[in-house]
Amino acid sequence: MNARIETEATLPYYAPSSDEVTLFEQAWRNRLPVLIKGPTGCGKTRFVAHMAAKLGLPLYTVACHDDLSAADLVGRHLIGDGKTVWCDGPLTRAVREGGICYLDEVVEARKDTTVVLHPLADDRRVLPIERTGEQLEAPSGFMLVVSYNPGYQNFLKSLKPSTRQRFVSLAFDFPTAEREIGILTGETACDPMLARRLVSIAGSLRTLKDVDLEEAVSTRLLVYAARLIGSGVAPLVACRAAIVESLTDDREIAEALMEVVAATF
Ligand code: ADP
Repeated sequence: MNARIETEATLPYYAPSSDEVTLFEQAWRNRLPVLIKGPTGCGKTRFVAHMAAKLGLPLYTVACHDDLSAADLVGRHLIGDGKTVWCDGPLTRAVREGGICYLDEVVEARKDTTVVLHPLADDRRVLPIERTGEQLEAPSGFMLVVSYNPGYQNFLKSLKPSTRQRFVSLAFDFPTAEREIGILTGETACDPMLARRLVSIAGSLRTLKDVDLEEAVSTRLLVYAARLIGSGVAPLVACRAAIVESLTDDREIAEALMEVVAATF
């Protein structure tokens, strides 16, 4: 196992919401896999990066998509210099090194792909590699972490109960106003007054019931707006580009959202 434990000062910045840091650490110590669910841009990926660094573990992140095959995770034979060589995929590498394999948006992956996770995600903790005949036993450091956004989920793209019930599940959501102000100032070193304004815009946009948005404004977009404003872009211009136009393509809705922004700045 990688023994390099980072100090708090060098960890990727993460502002916790409740007991997720302890829960994750205890899940790792007990060799349990973790599932993190929550809206896009609410800190899932940052949390995993923070925890990997805190525990001194190598981290392999895979952004899942509907074409992701089991070989993309496990590995494949490649031809080079006239011979065939086996090349480990990110999942196999994480198992061999005793690190974290993080599958982002796991519901996007094909069902047959998620099935390769099963023997790793229960008490067997093994990865059978059919093509090489190997059966890897995961060392104690190895941890499987998956995430998904329940908002995107449809009937066809839900996680099978047999997969889901192998994980300890952490539910993430948008932060409270005070915590989100803390995240913006911690992440961008912006003026707390600006952070408060952006968070108040987010609060209003998130409660707009009669506006048809696919997703609510994320903390990530507020961070973008704070960065643009911090480097001298006018607040309304920054909020249009970083927040409003990222939320909708509909002109009328965009103007309605801009009214909320203009009422704050
Ligand atoms: P996702 O949930 O989509 O994986 P990310 O983890 O990529 O979201 O978060 C998006 C951005 O929002 C991060 O890069 C960071 O700037 C900010 N962020 C969100 N939540 C937090 C948090 N709790 N602590 C620190 N930064 C956060």
